[in-house]
Amino acid sequence: MRIECRAVAAPDGTLRDGGFALEVEDGRIRSVSPAAAGGEMARCVAVPGLVQAHVHLCQTLFRGMAEDRTLLPWLEERIWPLEAAHDAETTRISALLSLRELLAAGCTGLMDMGSVRHSAVTVEMLRESGIRARAANSLMDRGPEGLAGEPGWLREETARVRAGCGGLVGYAWAPRFALSCSDALWEWVARESAGQVRATHSSEAPEEMEHPAIEEAGGNVRFLQQRGFLGPGTLLAHCVQLRAGEKELLASTGTSAVHCPWTNLRLGSGIADVPALDSAGVRVALGSDGAPCNNGLDLAADLRLAMALASVRRRPSGLPGGFWLRAATESAAQALGWTGVGRLQEGWRADVVLLEPTEAEWQQILTGEDPVRALLELHWPSRVRMTMVDGRVLYRDGDYPTLPAPPKDLAQMRRKLARRAGIGGGWD
Ligand SMILES: [Zn+2]
Repeated sequence: MRIECRAVAAPDGTLRDGGFALEVEDGRIRSVSPAAAGGEMARCVAVPGLVQAHVHLCQTLFRGMAEDRTLLPWLEERIWPLEAAHDAETTRISALLSLRELLAAGCTGLMDMGSVRHSAVTVEMLRESGIRARAANSLMDRGPEGLAGEPGWLREETARVRAGCGGLVGYAWAPRFALSCSDALWEWVARESAGQVRATHSSEAPEEMEHPAIEEAGGNVRFLQQRGFLGPGTLLAHCVQLRAGEKELLASTGTSAVHCPWTNLRLGSGIADVPALDSAGVRVALGSDGAPCNNGLDLAADLRLAMALASVRRRPSGLPGGFWLRAATESAAQALGWTGVGRLQEGWRADVVLLEPTEAEWQQILTGEDPVRALLELHWPSRVRMTMVDGRVLYRDGDYPTLPAPPKDLAQMRRKLARRAGIGGGWD
């Protein structure tokens, strides 16, 4: 397949204008070369696909149902009861809605944190979509009845979810967070998952940090270190409440931090210090997290927020658009164990997004101080024309060749879920 476009985001973090042709063959980019652009996509800019390094597909059906809460009430009063209320069909619809939204916003890869039950259904939907993914089942043996699982059952469920993975969907281990896992569960996960991709939530909200086990360990990152969970294959979402020395611990162990800026603001948790993490040598990726703590799954919108917030943590942030594009593409892909993913370069996997700015936007992008930042600050869901993963078109001009349409009775499905979760209230 040959894609002709007006410009490309180059591996050195710059935008190159003047007409290009990308040749794609067997899932890879065979060449990227200057060429007069013609055809339907001639006014587009080719960008490596965005990688969501932390997302909960099962929560998309709960969007807007957990407002104005801090982390623990958000989980205890809303998210956990709603996850416990899921059945296979509502889990499938939630994944479908997520994937349609993600593909239309230029996402080509993701790490899904799963839920305790029905994650095999999500894996099926991921495989059906054709997206590149790491999939997990959430591991919790502490927490609310109806959601937390007994250790033997969690092992069996893990085996079922892993067995469903294949193709572009690989497995990742996802113990939920310090407060929802016993030491026996951490021991089992550390033993089974060494050298593999694994993810959890860490150092998110102030109230979580007061938990005696985290206090005793000297911080959440140290808590995870003591349980054998840090390493190059580990991704820690949030890293807002880091204690002295913990950034250095992330860097020395090769552990990645996943910045979820909307979640951290909506739940009132704080602002992760991305400039300091980068200076300490920590790999940073980004995620939209669950729909109900962001109300969007648009990673470019998260990047726009992250770029602004970074200037609050360090004035000025010193992080150009090229840093953020790398964080959301190549760095995230490396964190997830994918090689040759995240650049528009010969021999790399063809995970490509075509964005079409208006002519006025494009003239301003080109003549601004930081064209890559300006490109990332566009409203991607209305500018993405095509999303390709591994050489296969998964989204084009509003069509999804691999996915069915969402059901028409979403409101009814959401009301039913809320009733089953015991939080019917205003939705009945
Ligand atoms: Zn999360």
